[in-house]
Amino acid sequence: MRLRYSYRICPTVGQRQALARTFGCARVVYNDALTLRKAAWKADRSRIPTGALAKAVITDAKKTDARSWLGSVSVDALQSSIRDLDTAYRNFFDSVSGKRSGRPVGLPVFKSRKDNRQSLRFSRNGFRLRSNGKLNLARIGDVRVKWSRALPADPSSVTIVLDPSGRYFASFVVDVEPQHLATLDTEVGIDLGLSIYAVCSDGTVIDNPRFLRKAEKKLKAAQRALSRKAKGSKNRAKARRKVARAHAKVADTRMDWLHKQTTRLIRENQAIYLEDLNVRGLARTRLAKSVHDAGWSTFRRLLEEKAARYGRHVGVIGRYEPTSQVCSACGVPDGPKPLNVRMWTCGACGTSHDRDLNAARNILAAGRADRLNACGGPVGPGVAIPRRARPVETGTHRNAGRTGRKPRAAGATGIPAL
Ligand SMILES: [Zn+2]
Repeated sequence: MRLRYSYRICPTVGQRQALARTFGCARVVYNDALTLRKAAWKADRSRIPTGALAKAVITDAKKTDARSWLGSVSVDALQSSIRDLDTAYRNFFDSVSGKRSGRPVGLPVFKSRKDNRQSLRFSRNGFRLRSNGKLNLARIGDVRVKWSRALPADPSSVTIVLDPSGRYFASFVVDVEPQHLATLDTEVGIDLGLSIYAVCSDGTVIDNPRFLRKAEKKLKAAQRALSRKAKGSKNRAKARRKVARAHAKVADTRMDWLHKQTTRLIRENQAIYLEDLNVRGLARTRLAKSVHDAGWSTFRRLLEEKAARYGRHVGVIGRYEPTSQVCSACGVPDGPKPLNVRMWTCGACGTSHDRDLNAARNILAAGRADRLNACGGPVGPGVAIPRRARPVETGTHRNAGRTGRKPRAAGATGIPAL
């Protein structure tokens, strides 16, 4: 499996200038190639082969006065730029034809000098790892790297990134073998929420750290300072970097936290089951900030990636499973419950339930059932979750993205303000 390993790098002033020149040239080549491909498509619906494209926008362009400066940077970075355009087109076509799953991918767009994030890539021919720990980049030189951890194998490419807060990173693509951990018999269902981040079926509670909410005051002050600076001034550029740095800090802290949580869950459990949340739908509501701050999609992606790497299983159960309405002890549906009901007692068996813990237990049961069904085995005893779609519980599931049924009137107002 291919993984990315990113490290902070510290280019010297001269290397920064060389990098800036290379970012610029790679961008021009990318945009020129995109212009040619667009024109060819418009003229006769044809696709220019990559080789011909590279000859036109690199080799031949270098000989013209308008593009002679292309000769001053690494040709490998320029060729990678054209290959990236190829990949962008392929992703678009695969997305249109349905070969690629996930959210739709648009046509490639032109890059700009003003883009927040500048990047360029070197293939295996464009970089070398020195024995003194420095990273040699073609036509740029030996750059110091902060090796926060060791590279597990020889990388196949490196992407150099300049982020909006002015930091440089080297991101290596490495091919590694999955390292399966010793098999465990623990399985866990997780109910994700906003007031509490997650409740696990074993009773563990993960508090919501709300990184953005905590940093909001500082961010607002930085943003206000930026809005007062004259357009195009040096002070404005400085203030913009300050805002970017504040945002980067929030994002970094959140990512670090998510990595720690997901690593722990993967280490301790053989299988992890989650509910499929409509994150994009929720992110359009007034909960948007909190939903983005929670980073549920990243949480799920990290779990899935780590599960593939360490030989664990992550199961996602359907969005409309009535996990909060069914008693996890006896399996009898108890009807919808508004969100302010945190505790309830089952009318059939008399068990009293914590709402979230009960949901987590139902997610575990539904996930197990799904997994056993997928394996062709019988559904384990004691699993009595109705598989038919039932009326969705008031409040926890928004109706976005659903077809064929009118939104329930109460559903839109059931979520308490945070
Ligand atoms: Zn019951």
